[in-house]
Amino acid sequence: MEFCAIIVAAGVGQRAGAGGAKQWRSLRGKVIARWSLEALITAGARRVVVVTSPDDEAVARQAFDGLSNWILAPGGATRDRSVVAGLNALDATEDEIVLIHDAARPLVDRRHVKALIEALADADGALPALPVADTLKKTNPATGDVTTVDRAGLRRAQTPQAFRFGVLKAAYDAWPEGDSPTDDAAVVERAGGRIALTAGDPRLMKLTYPEDFAMAELMAGGTRSVRIGQGFDAHRFGPGDAVWLCGIRIPHNRALIGHSDADAGLHALTDALLGAIGAGDIGDHFPPTDPQWKGAPSSVFLKHAAALIVARGGSVTNVDVTLICERPKIKPHREAMRASLAALLDLSLDRVSVKATTTEAMGFTGREEGLAAQAVAAVELPV
Ligand code: MG
Repeated sequence: MEFCAIIVAAGVGQRAGAGGAKQWRSLRGKVIARWSLEALITAGARRVVVVTSPDDEAVARQAFDGLSNWILAPGGATRDRSVVAGLNALDATEDEIVLIHDAARPLVDRRHVKALIEALADADGALPALPVADTLKKTNPATGDVTTVDRAGLRRAQTPQAFRFGVLKAAYDAWPEGDSPTDDAAVVERAGGRIALTAGDPRLMKLTYPEDFAMAELMAGGTRSVRIGQGFDAHRFGPGDAVWLCGIRIPHNRALIGHSDADAGLHALTDALLGAIGAGDIGDHFPPTDPQWKGAPSSVFLKHAAALIVARGGSVTNVDVTLICERPKIKPHREAMRASLAALLDLSLDRVSVKATTTEAMGFTGREEGLAAQAVAAVELPV
């Protein structure tokens, strides 16, 4: 199933919210444009031209590191100019099949490609299309009037779209200057070509708005694993008038002694997060011998561990901390601690638990020599 392909990745994606052009963002730990490139190469692409903004060349090279059979080409001012740039960079014969694909549709797979190539046997172009399920309304901006559009026969066009190289090139050559098609099939249609439709797929959705990314994360499922980490910490009581626990200052007739703020709750939880990703322990990342951590707020440690998880394309699913002491009483501060952890980890409250127990006056916590904490964290990571 040999073919060539052009991936259009030159857009700036202003509608997708903060975080830069969408095709260079991460989906389940993999750069969005790389999803498409890998899928097309796996499906049999002999050569793929990825059309990017010249500014994104370094980002693209890094994103595609380790893959072969691709080259970059600088994009044009509009999508259709970028496709033409891709066609010019593609060393293809007239009869060769070329697929044009939007980088912002990362979940393409070989079944889509196979259906398109088959459909092209008796058509000049082929594309996946979905029926329109919702009733369509049209508003008149001048009057505010709303009317209903007949949706019979309407289809939503997706990509990749497949053509013979010579047919598409000739159609673009004949396209009137100054007019901008929104897809490539429209160019072949205007040149008199016949277009075949293959079954569309919700997985071929175009990532356009911020909420689309969460949907794509769900659709790309099955490639995540759940990791568990646990942590334990204890600190000795000494002179003072307050303790820090889970980021909350609690007035007390003693303080916890330690190099940092001695927040045993945050230390145990930091170790749990590090444990879930096999990244050592808090002492590896923040050596107690390092003077810069003297008196440091332990939130720094927790945020560092959380950032390591994000950097691996992962996310924290839930955390559960148990504080072990006779005093201070934890219960009056428990909700503040949960809110503190939820804020530090950017989690909803129902994913954060803080519990407390005594040891019935037994052991070092029972004698109030010190206080202990243990924590468990569940983390989701790309496989
Ligand atoms: Mg500690």
